[in-house]
Amino acid sequence: MEMNPSTQLHLRSMLKVSLRSLSKNQIPIYNTPAVHKARPDVHAACHAHSTYGKAFSVFGRPLDMITQDSLRFYKSHAVYTDFGGVVLDREEGRRIAKSLGDGKACILQNHGLLTVGKSVDEAAFWFMSLDKTCHAQCTFSTFVDIMAILTSIPSTG
Ligand SMILES: [Zn+2]
Repeated sequence: MEMNPSTQLHLRSMLKVSLRSLSKNQIPIYNTPAVHKARPDVHAACHAHSTYGKAFSVFGRPLDMITQDSLRFYKSHAVYTDFGGVVLDREEGRRIAKSLGDGKACILQNHGLLTVGKSVDEAAFWFMSLDKTCHAQCTFSTFVDIMAILTSIPSTG
């Protein structure tokens, strides 16, 4: 069942940050301002530590193009492998923005997912789609591992 992202979002779960109102010493929430500066076409970003996004991010590799959903991210997602662990670091934000490039999503290794869009709806849609793709990817990888074990067991018949 497809869900409309806008029905899942509430005002209390969103934060509006004006880049112009930030003083030099104010640290913006997370590092999406760097993304907005690098990508004027981006008006919204979603970042969370979803279970499947976090699980897949551990591998530090891009999605395999194995499902219809994953194709949505073909040549439009990046993997950021240099996460320094300081969430509020402005330089970290610049590096993530550089890694994102002109794509719509970035897998932050050992951390979570980041998606962007021209609207909150679009960024949220991409986030939910990427999270489901990570779920499928994790499940697929498990099946591949199980099949490798099963095919390595000598037949007794
Ligand atoms: Zn985070």
